[in-house]
Amino acid sequence: MRKKVLVIGAGVAGLSAGSYLQRNSYDTEIFEMHSQPGGVCTAWKRGDYTFDYCIHWLMGTKPDTGFDLLWDELGAFENHDGSSMRIRNFDEFTRMEVPGGEEVCFYADAGRFGAELKRVAPDDGKLIDELVADMEYIARFRVPVATEKQSFFKKTGFFLSNLGVFRRYLKHLRTPLGEYADRWKSKYAKEAFRAVIPPSWSLGSLTMGLAMQHTKAAGYPVGGSLQFAKNIERGYLNQGGRIRYRSKVDEILVKDNRAVGIRLENGDEVFGDYIVSAADGHSTLFDMLDGRYLTPRLKQVYESFPLFPSSVFVAIGVDKDLSHLPHSTFVRTDKPFVLPDESSHNHLSTTVYNFDPTLAPDGKTTVTVILHTWNDSYWQEFADNDRKAYNQLKTEIGERVLEAVDSRFPGLKEATEVIDVSTPYTVKRYTNNWRGSFEGFAPTPITLITRLPKSVPGLQNCHMIGQWTTPGGGIPTAALDGRNLAVDLCKKDKKKFNAKVV
Ligand SMILES: Cc1cc2nc3c(=O)[nH]c(=O)nc-3n(C[C@H](O)[C@H](O)[C@H](O)COP(=O)(O)OP(=O)(O)OC[C@H]3O[C@@H](n4cnc5c(N)ncnc54)[C@H](O)[C@@H]3O)c2cc1C
Repeated sequence: MRKKVLVIGAGVAGLSAGSYLQRNSYDTEIFEMHSQPGGVCTAWKRGDYTFDYCIHWLMGTKPDTGFDLLWDELGAFENHDGSSMRIRNFDEFTRMEVPGGEEVCFYADAGRFGAELKRVAPDDGKLIDELVADMEYIARFRVPVATEKQSFFKKTGFFLSNLGVFRRYLKHLRTPLGEYADRWKSKYAKEAFRAVIPPSWSLGSLTMGLAMQHTKAAGYPVGGSLQFAKNIERGYLNQGGRIRYRSKVDEILVKDNRAVGIRLENGDEVFGDYIVSAADGHSTLFDMLDGRYLTPRLKQVYESFPLFPSSVFVAIGVDKDLSHLPHSTFVRTDKPFVLPDESSHNHLSTTVYNFDPTLAPDGKTTVTVILHTWNDSYWQEFADNDRKAYNQLKTEIGERVLEAVDSRFPGLKEATEVIDVSTPYTVKRYTNNWRGSFEGFAPTPITLITRLPKSVPGLQNCHMIGQWTTPGGGIPTAALDGRNLAVDLCKKDKKKFNAKVV
């Protein structure tokens, strides 16, 4: 008898779980509230343009760097026409504009980044040398994925051979970015570091990303986020998996502290041997399970851990070839750009998708600007109370953002054909992520060393995976969760885990 697994959510974690379980003779079905796969790893079309919301850099795009194994096993880069997603690596991670017309370029190459820092921060030589050396060291790290094959000795050997990397990474992980920025004498370097990620986040979350750029292990798959998700979805469906779209799960059904099924929004009940929630963690614990299985620790985590922000995201379709522009720039505004939700922004994080020709026809380009906000309730209340005014406000914000970007990159406005604005309300509506957060718990020195349970405490046969169970989030960890869950269930059911498609 094949055991039946009901998976809630067709984001990367849910698709990965389904894919690995299906190839291990489980009968799986995914229930997804939206009409397409991917969750926050998504994109949408407006006229000629595809607006990509998610992937900027993806760990594992280079062979033998750890997470690449996942993408191979899931067929994540295999397109429907048999071609492979081309990987694009960048020379620059981003450009950060600082006051006085100066710019700090975060080059992908550690040495080049060091030289750039010495140009803008000549009195910070010691810090720069240390940063470059650490980045080169951390870049050697390979995340172990197929741990089920490793003996105790192999695991110990891996740990010992990576001790130096761990030591350096831990130093970064424990340091809040703001504290690190304060060590610099140069006002340019201080501002550049403070603007690239929030000051309370771990320096490690930045240096890991930079280190992966350095070795070209974290590129961009051309075709973008939705194509990447659809490739994993196809791999899953080809193995006999099933997905019910537009099927929101309201409740996890429980009998004698054992999860036995789910109830959908339309009242349908479906029963299975295991329930896996790859959906938003807050709604799983507080709504689908009505708070009955919250431990004091989990309660504390959801009450006190800081979150990744949500976003006001402005996507612009420009009838112009913008190949001459840098692909990523934090555009410094003359005066703070204040949103109606009262969040204030000195920078507009602007991506010019001149590196992905699949997102717009020849001679046209999509441009996106993301503004972070933690004030999701403003948008929720506004949209609920007066939809017409909410839509009008989005239009106004889109025009204001375009105006600001146009003053930095002249010519954009006159060639603009489409503007589309999404808000925290949009993120919540399409993905159900708590407070519209786009990546779960924020990567601070505390959260990054916190391990959250992958099963619901006190409730048998109920598992939780995805970004809300791994602080810091990210696509690779979401996919790895799906794989690890399949390894664990196989172990429990005394099956030999099989990683390959059968
Ligand atoms: C703007 C942005 C940029 C990012 N950039 C990167 C990047 O460059 N690199 C990187 O690695 N990561 C990046 N991330 C993070 C990464 O995309 C996420 O961490 C990862 O995709 C999370 O996957 P998930 O499956 O855990 O969750 P989700 O994607 O949130 O999937 C959860 C799914 O569950 C569904 N669902 C929720 N509730 C229910 C319900 N009750 N019933 C049915 N279905 C439900 C949702 O609709 C959704 O499809 C970025 C994210 C964003 C938003």
